[in-house]
Amino acid sequence: MNRRSFFARAVPASFAIGAVAASCAPKSQQLYPDKHFHISRGYHQIPKLRLSTDRIVKETVGLRPFRASGPRLDVEKLGNKTIVHNYGHGGSGWSLSWGTGNIARKNVLATNEKKIAVLGCGTVGIATARLLQESGCEVTIYTKDVPPNITSNLATGTWSPASRVCDVKVAKPEFRTVWEEATRFSFRRFQFLLGMNEIACWAEEYGVFREMPVYTPGAGGEDFEIEGLLPERVKLDSREHPFKANHVTRRSNLMFNIPAYLRHQLTDFVMFGGKVKIQEIRKPEDIDALQENVVVNCMGLGAKPVFNDEELTPVSGQLSCLIPQSDIHYKLYTQGANFISRKDGIFIGSNGIVGNWDTTPSKEQTEKTVGILQKLMEEMKG
Ligand SMILES: Cc1cc2nc3c(=O)[nH]c(=O)nc-3n(C[C@H](O)[C@H](O)[C@H](O)COP(=O)(O)OP(=O)(O)OC[C@H]3O[C@@H](n4cnc5c(N)ncnc54)[C@H](O)[C@@H]3O)c2cc1C
Repeated sequence: MNRRSFFARAVPASFAIGAVAASCAPKSQQLYPDKHFHISRGYHQIPKLRLSTDRIVKETVGLRPFRASGPRLDVEKLGNKTIVHNYGHGGSGWSLSWGTGNIARKNVLATNEKKIAVLGCGTVGIATARLLQESGCEVTIYTKDVPPNITSNLATGTWSPASRVCDVKVAKPEFRTVWEEATRFSFRRFQFLLGMNEIACWAEEYGVFREMPVYTPGAGGEDFEIEGLLPERVKLDSREHPFKANHVTRRSNLMFNIPAYLRHQLTDFVMFGGKVKIQEIRKPEDIDALQENVVVNCMGLGAKPVFNDEELTPVSGQLSCLIPQSDIHYKLYTQGANFISRKDGIFIGSNGIVGNWDTTPSKEQTEKTVGILQKLMEEMKG
């Protein structure tokens, strides 16, 4: 029996009457008794996204640092330095930042050094630096750029620990265990960041497809999943949603309000005595010149030229940011497009081009995603 079915069965006797009444209601009402269920119309109403290209205020192309075998988390000696690697998280760097940071922390603590250099000030570098501080280390971050001028600022911001994390055909079987350890640690850690000005929060996530999508195993690594970690994905029947689609699912998922989250993290890092130095690492000799003996490499795609990592490759992703809409608090994904509502805007996108270094937004891509979502919204009931 999994955790949720255990709780479902362990209902106290005093709830029994309510439980009988609830059993007459449609399945989604039992799970989500909310104000959006429209009794007279007979379906669950969801606010419509207002979509037009004139509402787009910003467009970005971020480069996911992808490695087919999974993020690099090993330790190597470089002259007198110990290098602890923690880079190459693909489309799951936000989600895994604490978990792989914890693996890197264990590797650092094994050296018994207390003065540690962290290279890189993205979501992975800052989470790792915070964990090291919690273990009594004195940490300096050396970095070419700080937020907002980093890849981490160009992400969607949702819990997606398996997204483009590896190519399942290339990654070693052991990687699944490492991934699971990192995922579980991260998930626990994010629970401590809830309720703090919504830097992280829960929101509804809808999957909307004309027919059930056919899954083909491939480079996404999306077939990694831990049962029972997130609330279950529920399939909705036509009474339970307003979409013109036969396969609609809903579940709750974690969302990250990226700018506020990074600000919070950096403030904490400095509050605990951390230092940030702007410095580009161009070659291994630059690392050798640092005063710390142990160096954690969290440079994302920037690690490629310094460490000659041929496996590391960009997977570009374009996002268009629309003006926030106060009644939209959900994420939706469909064939060829998705959107997520954050405090700083509504981000639409979904593409991934392997090996593409070009960060110029494409008008064609914008029109494609806007078109898909516009049609979906027009066809919605209500
Ligand atoms: C469109 C898009 C959507 C995404 N959505 C999600 C999502 O919803 N959920 C999720 O979990 N992940 C998502 N990701 C993936 C996530 O953004 C990345 O995995 C993550 O940002 C990687 O973080 P990082 O800290 O390793 O790298 P970065 O954010 O790139 O940080 C690297 C740091 O290293 C520094 N650096 C680089 N080179 C050098 C150098 N030579 N010398 C000194 N410093 C250097 C940089 O300045 C920077 O500070 C998405 C990515 C994209 C592009």
